[in-house]
Amino acid sequence: MSNPFNDLPACAGCGKCCHLVVELASPGDDVPEEYVIERFGVRFMDQRGNGACAALDAATQLCAIYERRPQVCRDFARGAALCHRAVRSRAGILAAVT
Ligand code: SF4
Ligand code: SF4
Repeated sequence: MSNPFNDLPACAGCGKCCHLVVELASPGDDVPEEYVIERFGVRFMDQRGNGACAALDAATQLCAIYERRPQVCRDFARGAALCHRAVRSRAGILAAVT
């Protein structure tokens, strides 16, 4: 039986899933406002030009707001299909998330 964690790097220093679009739950998520943007009444984690979440530390590739990270980030499953897709993507940027 294959191990879904084979071929994955350590999460520390990977950060590829932190290049996905993160919609915030409201009410529920309580992230610092400087990392939030709103589009058409929907709140998201802001992203840099390379798609990285604004709260992703560029040097360490670790979450700078780990204790206050959104629920969707807490629920993201290492080893799941989307994790593997993110790791395989050239820059962690996925053209389409289905
Ligand atoms: S893409 Fe997968 S291996 Fe990389 S940080 Fe996210 S959960 Fe960890
Ligand atoms: S809030 Fe933290 S865990 Fe969530 S995408 Fe941004 S950097 Fe990654």
